[in-house]
Amino acid sequence: MKFLKQPISLIIALSLLMFNCSAGAKAIDKKIVKPFKVILLIGDGMGLAQISAASHYTNGELCLNLFNVIGLVKTSSGNDYITDSAAGATAYSSGVKTYNGAIGVGMDSLPVKTILEYALAQHMGTGLVTTCSITHATPAAFFSHQPSRSMDAAIANDLYSHPIDVVIGGGKPYFDIIKLQQLGYQVSSGNAIQWTMDYPKYFYFYNDSIHPPKWSEGRGDFLVNATSRAIKTLDQNKNGFFLMVEGSQIDWGGHDNDFDYTVKETIDFDKAVRAAYEFAKKDGHTLVLVTADHETGGLALNHGSLKNHTIEPAYTTGHHTGIMVPIYAYGPGSELFAGTIENTKVFYNICQLLGFNLGAH
Ligand code: MG
Ligand code: ZN
Repeated sequence: MKFLKQPISLIIALSLLMFNCSAGAKAIDKKIVKPFKVILLIGDGMGLAQISAASHYTNGELCLNLFNVIGLVKTSSGNDYITDSAAGATAYSSGVKTYNGAIGVGMDSLPVKTILEYALAQHMGTGLVTTCSITHATPAAFFSHQPSRSMDAAIANDLYSHPIDVVIGGGKPYFDIIKLQQLGYQVSSGNAIQWTMDYPKYFYFYNDSIHPPKWSEGRGDFLVNATSRAIKTLDQNKNGFFLMVEGSQIDWGGHDNDFDYTVKETIDFDKAVRAAYEFAKKDGHTLVLVTADHETGGLALNHGSLKNHTIEPAYTTGHHTGIMVPIYAYGPGSELFAGTIENTKVFYNICQLLGFNLGAH
């Protein structure tokens, strides 16, 4: 009996061990390490040619070159192979393919809840940083629900009902400063970046114009400073945060077929990417995503010199194109963004990682 007992207990012990091992392996497979802070950086109109050119002119020193999880995003909108920035941003903000021009609404023009609204409901920190008007299509699609991107006044009005902690960009003429102050915002503006504002809520307008100027016309380190400042403020929220940063004018360089404008804006945007990347590297709980809503200009790099760091570019259009755009991911959950995905999948992946209950979304 004694010699039987031992093998039986050994078998039980072995089988328990095997069970534990397989259960453990399954648990690890299923378990994605989740971030609780997400920084989504959108280079408007930034395709691979724009990134390749910026990399060439910086001798390969782009922060984007440090990312090792890379995917491709299909950018078509709900009604056109070629998206515009409103439908492109709504795909990222709300997970729906909608018609060109739509701001945070679906094909039926009805509001669709945005990632930023889900984050607000979870008492997370929220922020928007941009180099255009805050009412412009890309940032607007994260807080506003309007049938048309041209409705700047209505879009601005939608912001009053969204207590976003940090808002930095242009668009001052569209906002009622007294009202913002009544809502608890510290409001500041001026050509010099006077970072006197801090937690909990502030609004910073680059200047009194609708849009901040081009980087080449004196915008300086506004975007990277704004990004760093927003991260520092939002990180004081113990529930985590969602921050969207836009390099708006890469797109405008494409529309103008102005290669110098395109490249300088892309290099400037990459500095903001670096601020986010460096923060995430130290933090360990932050997912950084860098992508574009679409490519602009059909930019081709036809000839170039390695010695002189020059490129002979050619634009094929003054509008957007349908080519897939890259998405770069760094940090916990980044693996979800590898492969070829629809733009709407970016929304669902972020919501899954942040644990949002989408209900009947
Ligand atoms: Mg934009
Ligand atoms: Zn555009």
